[in-house]
Amino acid sequence: MIVGRFAPSPSGNLHLGNLRTALIAWCAARSDGGRFLMRVEDLTTGAAAVAEAEQQQALAMLGITHDGAILRQSEGSDRHRIAIDRLVQEGSTYPCYCSRREIRDAATAPHGSGTEGVYPGTCRDLTPADRAERERSGRRPALRLRAEGVTVHFRDRVVGPCSGVVDDLVLSRADGIASYNLAVVIDDAEQAVDQVVRGDDLLETTPRQVLLQGLLGLATPEYAHVPLVLGPDGARLSKRHGSVGLAEQLERGATADQVLGLLAWSLGLADPGESMSAPQVLERFDLDALPRGAWLVDPPTLQW
Ligand code: GLU
Repeated sequence: MIVGRFAPSPSGNLHLGNLRTALIAWCAARSDGGRFLMRVEDLTTGAAAVAEAEQQQALAMLGITHDGAILRQSEGSDRHRIAIDRLVQEGSTYPCYCSRREIRDAATAPHGSGTEGVYPGTCRDLTPADRAERERSGRRPALRLRAEGVTVHFRDRVVGPCSGVVDDLVLSRADGIASYNLAVVIDDAEQAVDQVVRGDDLLETTPRQVLLQGLLGLATPEYAHVPLVLGPDGARLSKRHGSVGLAEQLERGATADQVLGLLAWSLGLADPGESMSAPQVLERFDLDALPRGAWLVDPPTLQW
């Protein structure tokens, strides 16, 4: 039985793009009679409790139901630490004293949005004296994985064969908190997730996660990276496009089923203007027949 999940960061309202990804993830798990779990990735965000409540309310209104209790990433620091310690003991890590700015200035490869950027390896071969000097200047190090420039291959259910060179990714930040890549791997394993459906902005970070799974003896889930939703300017949908959340569309006169119908239409599963419930979308859903391009939408102009 498939175990899927949705793992929002509680950094604000879920926008139509997040909701569409959640709908796909839910349908992918449920269409196989699988379980669908919820995890809140609250490692870094303030005001998380309010955002989490709003996000869960929006998902519930659309009928995107989940099994069991919500797992909060911030509650998993012990298991994150155990995994990091294992990599330290294996000699697979090193402290990194670089500031974000130094990394940005030194990195040559292009950065993807939402990820940490490719680390050029500045602190990889520091001598003990170099390290002592940096410690004396009061810098607290992050901990990085010695990835040895390995290339990782995996097959994505939507995108097809993928591969990527893994950089020396951060395992824990200078404040001791586990990085996104470490936490997501540990927490997906903790929840026995074997199907990860998420936005294709995260595709480029997946080789890092697949590498960590291998090093930690964890199974690699099936990945399905789905196209993003873009605003009329072609940029990734965000708050600044206006009226991007479910609550805003309800205020503009929509019903939850109309919004779900719109999302289903964008996936080729509904007629224009059709209202749909989540179980109806599920009946028509086929993960292997998703549209391959991004969906362009202008939320403030939607007609209900
Ligand atoms: N928390 C991430 C987001 O909201 C998703 C991470 C994941 O699905 O692995 O974009």
